[in-house]
Formats: sequence, structure tokens, C-alpha cells
Amino acid sequence: MKDITIVGGGPAGALCGERLASHGFRVTIFDERLSWEKPCGGGLTHKAIARYPFLLDSPQPKRIVRTAELISGGGHRARFEMSHPIVIYARKVLNALLLDRAVAAGCTAVCSRVTSVDTDGRDVRVTVGGEEHRSDFVVLAAGARNQLLPETTALGAQDLEVTLGYFVPVEQEIIKVKFLKQFEGYLWSFPRADHLSVGICAKMGQRPSQQLRRHLDDFVVEESIPMDGARFYSHVLPSPQARTLRDRRIAGRNWAMAGDAAACVDPITGEGLYYALRSGDLLAQALIEDQPQAYPERLRAAFSADLEFAAHIARKLFRGNFLGGAITTRMVQLLNYSPAFRDLVRDVFSGEQDYRSLKRRLWDQFGITALEIMRTVFHPRAAASRPAGSRELAP
Ligand SMILES: Cc1cc2nc3c(=O)[nH]c(=O)nc-3n(C[C@H](O)[C@H](O)[C@H](O)COP(=O)(O)OP(=O)(O)OC[C@H]3O[C@@H](n4cnc5c(N)ncnc54)[C@H](O)[C@@H]3O)c2cc1C
Repeated sequence: MKDITIVGGGPAGALCGERLASHGFRVTIFDERLSWEKPCGGGLTHKAIARYPFLLDSPQPKRIVRTAELISGGGHRARFEMSHPIVIYARKVLNALLLDRAVAAGCTAVCSRVTSVDTDGRDVRVTVGGEEHRSDFVVLAAGARNQLLPETTALGAQDLEVTLGYFVPVEQEIIKVKFLKQFEGYLWSFPRADHLSVGICAKMGQRPSQQLRRHLDDFVVEESIPMDGARFYSHVLPSPQARTLRDRRIAGRNWAMAGDAAACVDPITGEGLYYALRSGDLLAQALIEDQPQAYPERLRAAFSADLEFAAHIARKLFRGNFLGGAITTRMVQLLNYSPAFRDLVRDVFSGEQDYRSLKRRLWDQFGITALEIMRTVFHPRAAASRPAGSRELAP
């Protein structure tokens, strides 16, 4: 197997192509837009940087953010320093960086739309601009809206999120995330090198888009974001159910999916860049070892079992209650009251804390957290030194 076609030159396709080409495969990447400003936050967590250090070391413009603020539906705020910074790129810059590396490794990148994929014969046949392109294997990395589905099913509304947002030409230093009451999703403001990406995400079909737009516009006003020159965007994002991650077919004899096409996205945070890169990387490695059939199992071992666990708890996290208040509100309040809880959230933000061991860690430190809360309640000086913006522990 030597000739590989990759449909989609986003993070998943470009990194997969780079790895394959550098091992002597002949790789053609087709992308209808190549590097473009895909609607996205553009935030890369520490786990992405640790595995792919060139994302930090590259000279391309990016913003390195160390401070985050969480805001509850009732307006409680908690600001904290992350244990590792989040690196934020404009997607046009990130895509160009990854595609340049793929081309430098030997890939051919073609700006064209693929209209069909046929995996039935000995060769894979891909139709591009009315012409047929043949290869031994096809990597489908065409994103969440991918309709090229040999032998598998499309992601349904239950597996998708709607996102709306603005690119705003203003510079800021901190990441903000706001939760809303009884709402599966959140609002965000991500500072990039020379602009902000502000947006809202919500489970598809749960809220009318006018309502999402209203929440977004309220957030922009509340956070005093000047909107001169802002550009509106909307896009879909996978938010996979547990059974989709477990059961959906993502590979066959001569094809495999990576990135959003394979629903490799954290169903709680919407983080997809790391999983796109990692899935492209794992698929390339399986092809290099001539073991493409091992790819789904390796993906599961690397992260998709953890994402499946996240899918089980996502709804409870966004809609559930704890001690008479919303879990998301309690989370924001605990951040202000408990250093041990703050350490945990910092690790979750930087991607160092996986979901499967989160429950155990929460239980293990339950006593410490309770003690820290009691201390702030009964110790007036500690209470007086609570961070600005924090309030009493009340619903
Ligand atoms: C609003 C929003 C905010 C987000 N914020 C973050 C964030 O801050 N951090 C994070 O980690 N993740 C974030 N994500 C998720 C992240 O954007 C995706 O997970 C990531 O882009 C997936 O990469 P990919 O390569 O699989 O797909 P994509 O980046 O979508 O790339 C797919 C490529 O395929 C091409 N293509 C599609 N169809 C065809 C076709 N028929 N023929 C040829 N080419 C085709 C497209 O042009 C595109 O370039 C966000 C997503 C959204 C929508």
C-alpha cells in the first residue's frame, strides 16, 4: 500500500499526510479550501503542545494564554492561573502551518472538492472536479459535515452541536467561559494574536438559533466587547454520544476516518484539535506498520474510551444540581473557596486530568475541599481575602 488519498487538509488530514509522506508514501491531500479561517476557538491545550511541541515553537503568530475566568449562569466569577498555558491560533495560520509541513514532507496538496468516494473495487476511486483519482487507501478527514461515507453512517443531530460566534478585531489576554442555567453548552471568549473568537455552542436541536444568538449578544455586552468590525460565523461541531464513540464504524478495508469525521471531539469541552491531530497521527502509524485494522482499537486506547466516559457525564454536568445549586455554579464557587479544587480545574483545563480518573480524584480530595470551605466560612480573615467577584456559597 503506497498511494494514499486524503480528503480534507485540516489538522487531522494534514498531520496524517505529513507522517505518511515522511515514511515514503505517495500522498495527495484534497481540500476544497486548503488554509482557511474555519470557525473555531483555535485553543490548543497542554496535551497537544506536549505531544506536538512544534505548535509552540513555530514562529507563526499565536497567543499564549495563562489566565482563565469561569462565569456561572448567576454571574459568579472565578479567575485562575492555568497549570500550563493554552496556545491559541487563528485557524488560517494553524492550517497553513500544518499543510506547509505536509507539503515539505512530500505531500501534494490540491485545492479541490471531492464529490464521491468509492471503496468497492481493488483501488479506491475518488471523484475530484469531475475526474477520477485512484489510490490504495483513502483517509476521510473532511470534518463534521462530511458526507463521504463508505460503509458507515453520518453523524446525526444527537451527535452534533451548533456553534455561533464572532471574530472581533480586539486584543485581550484571558480566556472566558460562561455557563447558562439548564443549558448543555457554554459561551466563550478566546483571545488570538490580533483578534478575539467569541462564541456559543449548544446541542443541536435543543435551542432555536435566535435564542443562541441572543445569549451570544448578551454575553458580548456583559463582557464589554467592542463589536466594531466583528464578523459573524456559524458551524457545526461533533458532540458524540457514548454509543456513537463505541459503535460507529470509522474504518474499513481500504478507508478510515480521522478527526471530526470520526467524531473525535470532547463532548464536554468541544476540544477537537488535539484529537484531530492525534487520530491523524495514529492512523498514519497504523498504515506505516501495515496494520490499518488496528487503528480503531488504538484510538480507543489512546482517548476515545475517555471521551465515551465524558459523554456519559456531560448532560449531568451541564444540567445537574449539587448542594441545592447548579453543578456549574458550584464549580465556579468552589474555585474561589478551595485551592485543592482549583488545582483540579487547572489540570482539567490543561488537559492533564482525564475524565475516567476525575471521579476518584474528586472523592479523594473531598475532605480537603470541605475543610477549605469551612475555613473560609469560619475564618473571617480568610473570607476577607477571597478573590474579587466571589460571593457566598448560595444558589
Ligand atoms: C466554533 C468552534 C470552536 C471550536 N473551538 C475549538 C478550540 O478552541 N479548541 C479545539 O481543540 N477545538 C475547537 N473546535 C473543534 C475543532 O475546530 C475541530 O475539532 C477540528 O477543526 C477538527 O479538525 P479536522 O481536521 O478533523 O476537520 P476540519 O478542521 O473541519 O477540516 C476538514 C477539512 O476538510 C475540507 N473538506 C470538507 N469537505 C470536503 C470535500 N468534500 N472535499 C475536499 N475538502 C473537503 C474542509 O475544507 C476542511 O479544511 C471548535 C469547533 C468549532 C466549530
